[in-house]
Amino acid sequence: MNIMVCIKQVLDNASVPKLDPATGRVVTEGVETIANPFDLNALEGALRLTDVHGGEVSVITVGNEECKTVLKLGLAMGAAHAYLVKAPDGQEQDSWSVSYLLSRAITSLGPFDLVLCGKQAIDDDSAQVGGSIARLLNMTQVTYVEEIQEVSSESITVKRAGNSGSEIIAARLPALLTCEKSLGEPRYPTLKRTRMANRVDIPALDCTEIGADPDRAGALVKVQMVYAPEPRQRGELLRGEPEEITRLAVARLVEQKII
Ligand SMILES: Cc1cc2nc3c(=O)[nH]c(=O)nc-3n(C[C@H](O)[C@H](O)[C@H](O)COP(=O)(O)OP(=O)(O)OC[C@H]3O[C@@H](n4cnc5c(N)ncnc54)[C@H](O)[C@@H]3O)c2cc1C
Repeated sequence: MNIMVCIKQVLDNASVPKLDPATGRVVTEGVETIANPFDLNALEGALRLTDVHGGEVSVITVGNEECKTVLKLGLAMGAAHAYLVKAPDGQEQDSWSVSYLLSRAITSLGPFDLVLCGKQAIDDDSAQVGGSIARLLNMTQVTYVEEIQEVSSESITVKRAGNSGSEIIAARLPALLTCEKSLGEPRYPTLKRTRMANRVDIPALDCTEIGADPDRAGALVKVQMVYAPEPRQRGELLRGEPEEITRLAVARLVEQKII
């Protein structure tokens, strides 16, 4: 099996995001970054498939040179190849442009039997990139995959989280899956693989190398401003016997013209 896993570098969720009031943007300089956790679950799922069925796993990210860190983690976990896709200089990126760049890169590096993404990125929470890549590649897609049950050279059977419970879906390959945490606890990289990963010269591909049109590789959505919600007012704890609490609660609701 030939599998591509898309990994996004995100801000470490252990740090509290700060906003720059001048730009209305989240401050990214000097903030620790991590690999999007769902993407590592996807990578673990991919590695388990190739452990059993053979083949290779590749990892890819759209970003800058610093994003090579998440690719090195992917190599250290067991991926055979890693690719950085550089967005054109001076252009903002959004879910659309990242999906476009990834879809062009996947086409030029493929063919792949499976493309795996996380179910969403934990910073923007948009959950759009997986579905958009599948659409751009005209590929079968299954979202919110909880478990891979069976795979053959032509099809895959997965359990996915549906609105009213889990669903078992059989899909034709090639397919794109967006993956839940339950796909697999990411394995610890061995020291040997970590050293090897640090020595790998990861290729940085530009638009020409992946056959992308630089004029289509910029954001369609412009974020005007990001702001923190007003802090919520402290609540009031009512104490006493049930009748008294009820009387006080009704009085407060009347005072605030809620009833
Ligand atoms: C170079 C660069 C510049 C950017 N500039 C701006 C900016 O100016 N303003 C702004 O608001 N935002 C900017 N962004 C953020 C951009 O909007 C997000 O990367 C984009 O929206 C995709 O993330 P998402 O949260 O929509 O992903 P989701 O759709 O939530 O992610 C789902 C899955 O898609 C895959 N995926 C998502 N993004 C990537 C990626 N970059 N590489 C590999 N796989 C990925 C992962 O598997 C992930 O689990 C920039 C990003 C990059 C890489």
